[in-house]
Amino acid sequence: MIRTGEQYRQSLRDGREIYIDGERVADVTRHAAFKPLVDVRARIYDMAHEAATRDVMTYEEGGERFAIGGRLPLAQEDWWDKRRAIDAVLDDVGGVVTRVGDETVGEMWSLYDGQDVLNEVDPQFSANIRNHVHKVVRADPFHVSANTDPKGDRSKRPQDQDPDMLLHVVKETDRGIIVRGAKYETAAAYANQAFTKPTIANWGDDKLSDYAVGFICELGSPGLKMICRSGFTGRGSVEDYPLANRFDEVDCLVVFDDVLIPWENVLFYRHTRAATFIRATLHRYSAMAFVYRLVKYADMMIGTALFNVRQTGLDKQQAVQEKLATLACYREGINAHLTSAIVMGQESPSGLLMPNQSLLMSGRVLACSQLPAMMHLARELCGGQICVTPDAASFRHPVAGKWLEKFYSVNEDWIAEDRRKLLAYGRDLLNSDYAGHRLTFHLFAQSPPFAHLAAVYRNFDWDGPLDFVRKSAGLSDRVMGTGKAPPSAKKIASAAE
Ligand SMILES: Cc1cc2nc3c(=O)[nH]c(=O)nc-3n(C[C@H](O)[C@H](O)[C@H](O)COP(=O)(O)OP(=O)(O)OC[C@H]3O[C@@H](n4cnc5c(N)ncnc54)[C@H](O)[C@@H]3O)c2cc1C
Repeated sequence: MIRTGEQYRQSLRDGREIYIDGERVADVTRHAAFKPLVDVRARIYDMAHEAATRDVMTYEEGGERFAIGGRLPLAQEDWWDKRRAIDAVLDDVGGVVTRVGDETVGEMWSLYDGQDVLNEVDPQFSANIRNHVHKVVRADPFHVSANTDPKGDRSKRPQDQDPDMLLHVVKETDRGIIVRGAKYETAAAYANQAFTKPTIANWGDDKLSDYAVGFICELGSPGLKMICRSGFTGRGSVEDYPLANRFDEVDCLVVFDDVLIPWENVLFYRHTRAATFIRATLHRYSAMAFVYRLVKYADMMIGTALFNVRQTGLDKQQAVQEKLATLACYREGINAHLTSAIVMGQESPSGLLMPNQSLLMSGRVLACSQLPAMMHLARELCGGQICVTPDAASFRHPVAGKWLEKFYSVNEDWIAEDRRKLLAYGRDLLNSDYAGHRLTFHLFAQSPPFAHLAAVYRNFDWDGPLDFVRKSAGLSDRVMGTGKAPPSAKKIASAAE
């Protein structure tokens, strides 16, 4: 089953409690801060029905059509299909949207891989994850991710401070568990459900904990309060801030004020081993779509910088060409990691096709850690005019506009209006509040840099280089068994799974 844009909009009118800029939001589908992204998400739903895009956005099974994004990856072709669907969306909407569902749903597939761990507690939990993985395909909800608690003072245990700093279970009932706390979640205000789980990485010796809880949260549930950061939409005109006004994905603090989670939505409870498992494997699928967005973001930087240096004739300079080539290497470096991660995919414990984990995780580090430098390089290539150019209204003014027309017309092909538009686009891509937020999003939204590197450490096969040096240096076989080497990917996988 695939929903229409209108059905999606209707699903958000469920009485949810949303706050932004000191006011309660009456209808999230119409509020100025949320409407652009709700419209983009609705457009993605509608693309699944339109003749021109239906085949790239959906697949058919048993006479019914389902969204490509939620399909379980079983073969390489499934990953190419997902990539084509992302391309179709980003080309259609003309920019990068990240949190629209396909990039978070894979977190559930990671837990689907941990059914043995869930069975240790209660086979009902593994049945629940199986149901939810299939339900997402059938019901086509907009699915988001909830990991990060406010956390409070990290030097203290949660029990030794306000216990709500980390989300926890306060009560069990016949119908389910009651949870309390809060999570930061991008797009929750206009999504349908969130896979909610702990951020804690180290449970020490604890086998059981009220904080070790994972569940699917229906985002219209009574007791939820979504307190959003201010949006960038409307802070400047659409002409001056073309990206902020269309692609701002609003994040919020979702407060759980004693929220009932029905038992069928509980994926694990009290079991720290299940919580540890999901933390170690959370992004094994979802990193693919998250990182692929940066290939498109790189295209936006390259296109903007190249148009600018062509306008001004600077593209003939070798030093400028080298900077453009550096941007191209960044783009192709990410592309190469993701492409080879698909080609060298690995079978997961539940029989899915995971992207090759070492290539995917090191590709994520490359893409996210180099993004600030690449944005700075693109900014440099655009020159200072991206931050000193007057706004569109001045270009329209009878007196000021004439001067701007004169100084912003470069030649017969580059009239002032096109130059103004390109510089406004570059400013919003690289310099504006929105641009800074995008950069921070990629720094943190799929966990912070130390966790990205930890994932590389867990997945790289260290035995290869060790064995090479052992032979090359003529070391004895015994050195491979000293226990001081970092464990290889295979050992980690078997320890976790
Ligand atoms: C735009 C945006 C969107 C987001 N969307 C979501 C979302 O949809 N869902 C969600 O769950 N979360 C989301 N987050 C939250 C994000 O996951 C967290 O910001 C991130 O996990 C870091 O947690 P923190 O902000 O509490 O930073 P802190 O935990 O305070 O960490 C700050 C810094 O301290 C250092 N540090 C902390 N702990 C360690 C450690 N153990 N080892 C080494 N260094 C350490 C690191 O330098 C780290 O970057 C989003 C964040 C942003 C900025």
